[in-house]
This record gives sequence, C-alpha cells and structure tokens, in this order.
Amino acid sequence: MTPFLLVLSAPSGGGKTTIAKALIAAREDVGYSVSATTRPPRAAERDGVDYHFITFEEFVRRVKAGAFLEWAEYGGHRYGTLAAEVERVLASGRHVVMDIEVQGARRIRDRCQNVVSVFIIPPSAQALVDRLGGRRTERPPDLVRRLRRAVAELDEAKDYDYVVVNADRTQAVAEVAAIIEAESRRPRWQPTLDQSLAALGRDIAERADTLERT
Ligand code: 5GP
Repeated sequence: MTPFLLVLSAPSGGGKTTIAKALIAAREDVGYSVSATTRPPRAAERDGVDYHFITFEEFVRRVKAGAFLEWAEYGGHRYGTLAAEVERVLASGRHVVMDIEVQGARRIRDRCQNVVSVFIIPPSAQALVDRLGGRRTERPPDLVRRLRRAVAELDEAKDYDYVVVNADRTQAVAEVAAIIEAESRRPRWQPTLDQSLAALGRDIAERADTLERT
C-alpha cells in the first residue's frame, strides 16, 4: 500500500500529541515525523524524540536550505516539518503521523497529494482549560494565548477530512486507528489493485469456464 501523511491538528491541549504517541506505540504501520522547533524543551521532552530542539539561527539556516516541507510560528516560537523526517518514515513503508497546527496543515494539504487530515476537538471548553492547566508548563499569559488561538483554530476544522472528539483518549485513539483502516481500503492507496483485480477476474472466468464444461 502507498503510505500517506496523517496530519493531526487540534487546539493546543486538544490531546493530539498523546493520541499520536499512542498510535505509534500501538501500530507498526505508522511512524512519527519529529518536527524541529525553537521552543525550549519541557521537562519530560527529549531532543530527537519529541522534537529536534534547535536555535532560531539554525532554524533560519534550515529554512534557507529548503529543509522544511512547511513551517509556522506559534506562541512566539517556530515549528517546522523536516522533509528528511517525512522521507525517512515513508521510506520505511509506514504512514507518517504529523502533529502540526492549522497553518502548517493547510500548507501540507496544498503541497502534498498523499494527505489524510484529522482535526481533534476537546469535548468542551472546560476540558481544554483543565488539560492546559493540568500541563502546568504554561504560564498564565501563555495559557490565555493558547485558548484565544484555539478559538481561531476551530474555524479550520471543516477543511479537514475527519473530525474526532477527544472525550476519552482510548476511544479517540481507536477512532483515528479506524480512520487509518478505512483510508487504507481506498483504491487510491492501493497501487497494485488493478493487477489484483485483473488476476481475480481471470480466476473467476476460469472457474466459470470449467463449470460450463462440466
Ligand atoms: P507545543 O509547543 O505544544 O509542542 O506545540 C505547539 C503547536 O505547534 C501545536 O499545535 C503543534 O501541533 C504545533 N506543531 C508542532 N510541530 C509542528 C510543525 O512541524 N509544524 C507546524 N506547522 N506546527 C507544529
């Protein structure tokens, strides 16, 4: 099957990173595209695993070198998808899970053919506030900025292929997995479908011939 780019977007705190990680842990047919960012690492984050943490100067250098498929500014920091990361996962035959905000997702949809996009929404405003508050890594001005941005981001949801409500993490992961399953049955991702159908058709015709003769 042709691997595709699975773009996950959500308002910050919507739970997409957790969903992305759970998918990677549960499925062998997906891999994670590790983005580059100028944001400093949070306590539990590891360089090269959660993000490639780079300086602003290095980010600018890589933009000039054409290293990014897309990049965007978010909360005063830059974030970008490295073409080499996407290539690495595609070359292993796996779908590429990308956890990116809405501007980057739009660029990926405009630029790449092989995209399946999923917008994840929180079940309520309170759930979003609780999740962001629970993270305790955001200082209040950041928190307010992320909430204001979340309101604007919701406008983009209608342009995605799918919308999933993340009320329960296990259920949301199961829904995204179901999207991968359903998508992989589309003829567009099955380059050998023509041959398989032709072979099946020949087999059936042979059986019909045999039955007719007996
Ligand atoms: P955070 O700082 O919470 O890890 O991420 C902030 C926002 O940046 C999230 O919405 C996340 O999805 C987005 N983001 C992470 N990596 C990328 C990227 O490579 N490109 C874009 N456009 N957004 C990204």
